[in-house]
Formats: sequence, C-alpha cells, structure tokens
Amino acid sequence: MWVTDAALTPATDADLEVMREQLGRPMRGVVGIAARCACGNPTVVATEPRLPDGTPFPTFYYLTHPGATAAMSALEATHVMRELADLLADDDEIASRYRAAHEAYLADRSVYGDVEEIAGISAGGMPTRVKCLHAVAAHALAAGPGVNPIGDLALERSSWSPARCTCANPRVAA
Ligand SMILES: [Zn+2]
Repeated sequence: MWVTDAALTPATDADLEVMREQLGRPMRGVVGIAARCACGNPTVVATEPRLPDGTPFPTFYYLTHPGATAAMSALEATHVMRELADLLADDDEIASRYRAAHEAYLADRSVYGDVEEIAGISAGGMPTRVKCLHAVAAHALAAGPGVNPIGDLALERSSWSPARCTCANPRVAA
C-alpha cells in the first residue's frame, strides 16, 4: 500500500527549499504538499491553477521527487507506456475509473480557483489517453490507491516506492 495523505499538508520553508533542490528552480504557486517521501520530503506538490505571473497551470499535482521522476521517465521509455494505453483502450472498467479520476482531479483543483483557459483539462492525458506517467503517478500518490488506475499501475510497475526513502538529503526526523 502507498503511504499517502489525501489532504494537503502545508508547505513549510524547509519543504520549499527541498523542492528548489529537487527541481533546480523555485516551485511557484505552491498551495501545499500532496504526498511525501517516507522521510518527510515532498514527493508531490499541489499548485495554484493560475501561477502568480498569470500563467494557467493545469498540473495541480506535480511530481517533485527525483527518484520518482526518474522512475517514471524510465517507465515512459519502455513498453509499459503502450501497455497502459492499450489497457485503457480495451478495459471498460479501467476507462471508466480513469474518467472518474479526471473528474476528481478537476474537483480537487477547482478548490483553488476556476481558470477558463484550462477548464476541463486535467493532466497526463486524462481522461482518454496516457501521455505523462509523472502526472498520473503524482495524482495516484496524492489521492491514494484506488482513485487513478493508470497512476496506480505506473507506481506498481516502477522501481521507486514512496515507502522507501532514496533522497540524496533525507529529512531528519522531527
Ligand atoms: Zn526521502
């Protein structure tokens, strides 16, 4: 089972600093941390649907953890991407749950404002395609198992696990 919180936790100054190291740039428009590594470092950040400079930003759940992003990039380079796309095309139940995941994603984001330019647009190819495993895995980590079937499968197939810290700079337990 994935260890995740459905609710956001506040992004502390330490979280913002860790994300700056993870991404190599400051993360803008942060509204909270949606999932964390076993050590407590941010794994998924939630961002405003409109960034402070006015840019619409559909990816409400953004994967920041280097171990997780590398694992998803590695999966995207394999046949797994095609397998998941085929599964979505062939399995009505998965397709239905993926559409529901898309709706849940939009509902989560709308709490932070409705942005006309990205209305009805979620992330990762939802609701009918598999385009970015980082985005669907981020949603699965944020929402917990059973919400985003493609994200759940991507995490199952991946070499990375939220239960095992691989951070270069693990957080010292508070
Ligand atoms: Zn860690």
